[in-house]
Amino acid sequence: MSLVAGNVFMVVAPSGAGKSSLVNALLARDPTLCLSVSCTTRPPRSGETDGKDYRFVTREQFDALRQNNQLLEWAEVHGNFYGTPRDKIDQAVAFGQDILLEIDWQGARQVKKLFPEAIGVFILPPSISTLRERLTQRGQDAETVIERRIEAASEEISHAPEFEYVIINQDFSVALTQLSQIIETAKLRYPRQLARNPDLFRSFDLLP
Ligand code: 5GP
Repeated sequence: MSLVAGNVFMVVAPSGAGKSSLVNALLARDPTLCLSVSCTTRPPRSGETDGKDYRFVTREQFDALRQNNQLLEWAEVHGNFYGTPRDKIDQAVAFGQDILLEIDWQGARQVKKLFPEAIGVFILPPSISTLRERLTQRGQDAETVIERRIEAASEEISHAPEFEYVIINQDFSVALTQLSQIIETAKLRYPRQLARNPDLFRSFDLLP
């Protein structure tokens, strides 16, 4: 039985499902949860801060991180590269810190191979028409751009069966409560409780 105390959560969704808003609200609610800041070669959007939303790197820097085995997983998404720095995850897991990764399905597959106990949550929009509306409302993008986004979203959604949990984000506060419940329940798994409360478990002669 693993004595590792930190949970690894992966939250995956097609763009337009409201993933970032849910994750941000979750982090505000649960200060014990730590968010992994990914590296990306995509340029920052307005309002994004380097080191907070992403670590914005050049393609050369990204390749160096990859070659030096500093990324736990990486993927190309919409023509840009994204990766999860390894150091923070290793540290978090070793020190009992729960960590949340906002990544795509390709990254989730890689993480699951390394951490089979990682918990995958897929966020679905309530309907394809809602998704289309949300992707269309984002800006004054050309029809072809919107169609490309919808295609990419459908591709992401086709991987939903690979995840343990699915949240349908129809009502934000309901979806947030559900996400929070998944996190709270995971903290009660036997090995996690054992790792967090060794003295108690020892007193009941329950240490392995
Ligand atoms: P955006 O550019 O809109 O912030 O993100 C585009 C996609 O890349 C999203 O699906 C997001 O979850 C994914 N992504 C962000 N960071 C990572 C990462 O570190 N690894 C992987 N595999 N995907 C990521």
